[in-house]
Amino acid sequence: MVRTRRELAVFLSKLNVFTKPSFILEQYVSDSEVAAILLWKMMLNSEIEDRIIVDLGAGTGILGIGALLLGAKHVIFVDVDSKMKTEIEKNIEILNENWEIDVEGRWNFVCKDVKEFQLDEKIDKTEVIVLMNPPFGTRNKHLDKVFLEKAMELTHSIYTMHKTSTKVFIEALCRDNNLDIYWLEDTSFPIKNTMQQHTKKIERIEVSLFNLRKNN
Ligand code: SAH
Repeated sequence: MVRTRRELAVFLSKLNVFTKPSFILEQYVSDSEVAAILLWKMMLNSEIEDRIIVDLGAGTGILGIGALLLGAKHVIFVDVDSKMKTEIEKNIEILNENWEIDVEGRWNFVCKDVKEFQLDEKIDKTEVIVLMNPPFGTRNKHLDKVFLEKAMELTHSIYTMHKTSTKVFIEALCRDNNLDIYWLEDTSFPIKNTMQQHTKKIERIEVSLFNLRKNN
């Protein structure tokens, strides 16, 4: 079992990242340290173990795979890019090799636009927690809002990250939708130079991590 947040971050750093990231789909992998902060908070809040975790915009699966390692009952990886299924499979293999755990049957991949995603009717909604590092909406304006609205439809508790510069917008969205900001932590996120439009080798962006909960 994972004993420390550090140990979790070290493992997450071993996972494969996007090989040919799509600029249009805003594909950038979560930094392993930042992913570990979000996942550790979920765990301390008892919102991973025995839960059904929906990883919206899962990409190569770093967040959902971390949740599997920390004891999630099931993880649903959702991404509009069908290629992510094999990327996630490869990373699940790395999980199996590193921890000698078999997570077969504890996850599935759904290739859908987030707007179209629906939970199976048999799923007990009270067990569902949403975990995501959505597109920040820099390329597709307001895509972060679309992700948040879907998350609200699926669960009472959302773990998410956004550009710190959009915090005011997130706060307003929470007010309008009866969501409490239960936890908020500002940090920064290195984006490696995997996309051509980035000029500097490693660019750091300010990000804020949130746990949002329905207050009604
Ligand atoms: N959550 C991953 C990936 C973040 S990048 C991580 O933390 O590393 C954002 C992801 O959202 C990409 O994989 C991209 O393919 C996906 N995405 C972009 N637009 C989407 C949409 N409309 N519906 C579903 N997924 C989308």
